[in-house]
Amino acid sequence: MLSQLVKDRESVLVGNELVDAHCHLDLFAEPQVAAKDARFGGVNLIITAGGSKSSSLAAIRIADGELVFAVIGVDPEWAGSDYSFIGEISSLIKSHKKIVGIGEIGLDYKVGTDRRNQTEVFEMQIDIAKSLDVPIVIHSRGAIEDVIEMVKEKEVKKAIFHFFEGDDEQAVELSRLGYLISIPPIESSRRRRIINELGIDSIAVETDSPVVGKSPLDVIRTVEWIAEIKGISFNEASMRITQNVKKLFSL
Ligand SMILES: [Zn+2]
Repeated sequence: MLSQLVKDRESVLVGNELVDAHCHLDLFAEPQVAAKDARFGGVNLIITAGGSKSSSLAAIRIADGELVFAVIGVDPEWAGSDYSFIGEISSLIKSHKKIVGIGEIGLDYKVGTDRRNQTEVFEMQIDIAKSLDVPIVIHSRGAIEDVIEMVKEKEVKKAIFHFFEGDDEQAVELSRLGYLISIPPIESSRRRRIINELGIDSIAVETDSPVVGKSPLDVIRTVEWIAEIKGISFNEASMRITQNVKKLFSL
């Protein structure tokens, strides 16, 4: 259901900022149309993520460096087959301003890839991100303890936890290390606790569309939810969340 706030399109658009910190525009039948629709609906910053060689190259093609920026990398599922792409990441980032980070990368204990292989690929890409001083976009599934251990051990400075799977205590711990916690468009009591415990400056929103959300516009409902939990206006929530993402990606 659309709320009154969203129906009142003007109040969302005027002087506002809205971000989708993580989606996969390359998976839409018409990525440019999806981006344009999102902009028309009030979303003015989209980070589209790769996770394999082909999806990373697609993300680069789709990114325009204005509305849409790309992050590229090899996720745990592709850690075996696209291993060699890791060697191309650094030069791609150096030659494209619209690539703003490495992701999605991490650990996923629900996929078949060998865990040592995943860990090695995650670690290599963290090292590249550190050497280029760009943020990492973290994918973690069934692996949050090991991921937290890794970012601490590697002293990662800039990171966003995409589709955060941990609990509120872990979220607060990670926020103290300066990382962003990204909230997907699925409400739950666990996420409510996380939003409650986190400062607004540590929160990002994402749709992971079209995998989870239907379109980047699904951030609107999540921002409304966060605003309600935090007791602040939609405008303030959307502006501050967008600022968090801009700051992380130096935009
Ligand atoms: Zn994703």
